[in-house]
Amino acid sequence: MKPVDSHCHLDFEQFDSDRDEVIENCREKLEFVVTAGSNVEHNQSAIQLEKKYPEIAVSNLGLHPVYTDSFNQLEEVKQQIRENKPAAVGEIGLDYHHVTDSELRDRQEEIFREMLELAEELELPVVVHSRDAEEKAVDILKEYDIPQVMLHCFNGSPRLARDAVENGMKIGVTTQVLYSSQVQEIVEAINTEDMLLETDSPFLYQGERNEPINVIESAERIAEIKNTGVEEVVDATTRNAKELFGR
Ligand SMILES: [Zn+2]
Repeated sequence: MKPVDSHCHLDFEQFDSDRDEVIENCREKLEFVVTAGSNVEHNQSAIQLEKKYPEIAVSNLGLHPVYTDSFNQLEEVKQQIRENKPAAVGEIGLDYHHVTDSELRDRQEEIFREMLELAEELELPVVVHSRDAEEKAVDILKEYDIPQVMLHCFNGSPRLARDAVENGMKIGVTTQVLYSSQVQEIVEAINTEDMLLETDSPFLYQGERNEPINVIESAERIAEIKNTGVEEVVDATTRNAKELFGR
């Protein structure tokens, strides 16, 4: 099996000059790549990418918690999800790092809950952003009956990671594992059977532009930390990705 990049943003402008090339690279080295939407326009781009590259690109549709200017698009985003039935609802969630205003945080939570209700109704998995709001996001998720949950770019405590896993959630391990001791500790605390590989490209590669194929480096680092083979890491995480995204 080849690795999967379970979360990235291939439609972002950082890929405007060489998007086809980046995706061609994935075709050789990866099983598939999941590109997440953030609002109506980005969701549309994700749908287009999946149409253009059906054998490699998978789209998620959502409303990103940092896209506060797009919060008025909620109904339209829900409509997009109903019409397109994406592999998962995402990216959705909470972000207390960028959003500090209490009214906007309340609105974030309302939107997160509405998206979870929709996922529950349509029986779709969810991909959840939880920056500086990990505890709260996990608590809210426990209230819903969602088929599968990916905690994307999880940076909470190792204890919370274990708690989430015990409640059936999967932990997205980004390329931060190459340089962040926090993420390395999370990897130590859970089993590879509970992880998904992701890059969150174009971000999280120490200031350089990230690309989906860099999940290969992450798999190597995780194998070192877990004292196991790279193949074991790839097999476990790819199995999880196939199951979660229905591929
Ligand atoms: Zn993302």
